[in-house]
Amino acid sequence: MGVIPESNVDVLIVGAGPAGLMMATWMAKCGINARIVDKRGTKIFNGQADGLQCRTLEILDSLGFGHRAWREANHMLEICLWNPDENGIIRRSDRIPDTIPGISRFQQVVLHQGRIERFFLDSIAEASEIRVERGVMPSSLKIDESAVEDDAAYPITITLRHLTEEEATPKQSSTSANGQSVQDGLFRSNLAKDDTQDLLDASKINAKANSEEVIHAKYMIGADGAHSWTRNQIGLKLEGDSTDYIWGVLDIVPITDFPDIRMRCAIHSADCGSIMVIPRENKLVRLYIQLTTTGKTGDNSGRADRSKINPQMILESAQRILAPYKITYRKLDWWTAYQIGQRVGTSFSVHERVFLAGDAVHTHSPKAGQGMNVSMQDSFNLGWKIASVVKGHAHRSILKTYQSERRRIAQDLIAFDHKFSRLFSGRPAKDVMDAEGISMEEFKAAFEKGNMFASGIAVNYGASAIVAKEGSSEEQGDGTDVSVANAKHRVISDQSLCAGITVGMRIPSHKVLSQADARPWHLHEVLPSNGRWRVIVFAGNTNEDRQRDKLWKLSEVFSAPNSFLSLYTPKGARYDGVFEVLLIHNAPRQSVTVLDFPEVFRPYDEIDGWDYNKIFVDDVSYHEGFGNIYGALGIPQDGCIVIVRPDQYVSYVGSMEKPAAVNSFFAGFMKGQQAPDEAQTNGTKV
Ligand code: FAD
Repeated sequence: MGVIPESNVDVLIVGAGPAGLMMATWMAKCGINARIVDKRGTKIFNGQADGLQCRTLEILDSLGFGHRAWREANHMLEICLWNPDENGIIRRSDRIPDTIPGISRFQQVVLHQGRIERFFLDSIAEASEIRVERGVMPSSLKIDESAVEDDAAYPITITLRHLTEEEATPKQSSTSANGQSVQDGLFRSNLAKDDTQDLLDASKINAKANSEEVIHAKYMIGADGAHSWTRNQIGLKLEGDSTDYIWGVLDIVPITDFPDIRMRCAIHSADCGSIMVIPRENKLVRLYIQLTTTGKTGDNSGRADRSKINPQMILESAQRILAPYKITYRKLDWWTAYQIGQRVGTSFSVHERVFLAGDAVHTHSPKAGQGMNVSMQDSFNLGWKIASVVKGHAHRSILKTYQSERRRIAQDLIAFDHKFSRLFSGRPAKDVMDAEGISMEEFKAAFEKGNMFASGIAVNYGASAIVAKEGSSEEQGDGTDVSVANAKHRVISDQSLCAGITVGMRIPSHKVLSQADARPWHLHEVLPSNGRWRVIVFAGNTNEDRQRDKLWKLSEVFSAPNSFLSLYTPKGARYDGVFEVLLIHNAPRQSVTVLDFPEVFRPYDEIDGWDYNKIFVDDVSYHEGFGNIYGALGIPQDGCIVIVRPDQYVSYVGSMEKPAAVNSFFAGFMKGQQAPDEAQTNGTKV
């Protein structure tokens, strides 16, 4: 037997589903030495998750490919609620907007998981040399506990095994339904034309089959799905409700006289159960049907016998629920049946070295379309933090905020799912005396309220070193210590300054104009996900002496040798490599020019000259109206400073008169890069 090769990598990602690919995208964008492996020979090509909530679209847009999803996806604008009338016949009882109007510039859409994965793969390839290594899975994991606090150490040792092509290929069902054979997704998907390279790569797997290699990693992410090998290795458990529901899912091109088949519908029949209709891309429609409410189909284990479920049986359930309307199909694209517990991991990491993300650490029903969204958002939360620690910009302490922030979201999700499942699955009440039935008014109210949660916009992270607001880690209920690294740096936001920006939530987006060329931008468009912090100064009307004075004093503090810019930007890095300082004023655009503002907002570079992309104005555009960001966010005429994390969540809101608070905030967790006496006045021409 030959020598087993060994190598070091900063970050190893196990699993190339949505959670793993999001992590790999951060690594690619931040220039981190990372590898990503998946036991499967190819990505998936159809089926599985499909709903993209509006916050996820904002995130994909910040990564540079939201427009691809937006263009290809089916847009869902309205939800129709169908319930039995007094004769037990289903009727449309209500219509509500699918996405609450005004909460985002995107609305909920549906597109299958394979396409989303395609966009990630293209983005990773564009930004880096990282490629998903398929047909590879870990076979052992060891952590050197004595080295976990050493930034330079590689305390994780993993053995990777390369599989044969046969081992790496999932078994495809070739079930016959309506006399039709359900083919392997590889050949039937009309969206798969740019997956040729994946197929070629898959055929190369055998060249390395049965070989092993040893990897030493600084950090590892187990994004390896609900049966997570990584979770088992590190001894973490999922806890929660053990009463499982069995779900049948059909993706079909339907033939039906049901009039709302192109709307998202929640349909409660009088006695035959409930169905969720999801209109999809390419004339597809997904039907979600709960096949049992007890999770028991006769065996003693309490678990369902999935082998008894097939597409014909799911279709027949749908036909009973939809009667007197008729439904059948000409094409079955994909189907599945699965049993989902509502469970959350007891912990999301060990030693803040090995992390779990996505289905590996929470499972729940698919009804609210949250699975893929929450999984991607887990690693969207974690990726930039790991990148800044690996690069030596931030202390390891910020990694604790992954669990404190995301575990609570997972718990909220399970609570939401629990309530929603009960209301969705229950039999409609026959009248007010029918205590066991579900009130359809209650269902509608829960749906409307749930829409805010389901949009992803409601996420509000608790107090920590990177979220400067009142509250302690204890209030987050998981015992995680995420208090500031050093109490003397503790900074608290003045949340009363602007009603429209909530510390801990993502900053809302409205249009602003570039001062230099009058082009309108959505605020989020100028906050791309590239690992940088943003310090946004809303300076008010800078034609007023008071505001102008405050702005110039603030810029002196930001440009000083002991400022956050000077202390925490590595020597030799670009002036905005770690922090971007942005200005949004509301003096009339035509009354000022970029050169009227302090140089910290238009940094000078010997090669590129002035940077014209950091000063914006809240004014009327020629072609796209008036963003009115000051009005929409409640920015006071006194102005304010807002610190925005690399993932667009707000860390701090404070007065323009206290610019040194920004230094104190970053002192809580950033690592000094150079001594103050040798620091240059950052980003200014001196
Ligand atoms: P996954 O998408 O499960 O990705 C995990 C990846 O890890 C896979 O690529 C897998 O091959 C790889 N992997 C696993 N173990 C190892 C290992 N030991 N070594 C290397 N690689 C490994 N959600 C919905 O919203 N609607 C649906 O209809 C729906 N249907 C689903 C049907 C099925 C059969 C499954 C499994 C899930 C479904 N989901 C659905 C859930 C949704 O797909 C997930 O919530 C989402 O994909 C989670 O993303 P993830 O990256 O965490 O995990």
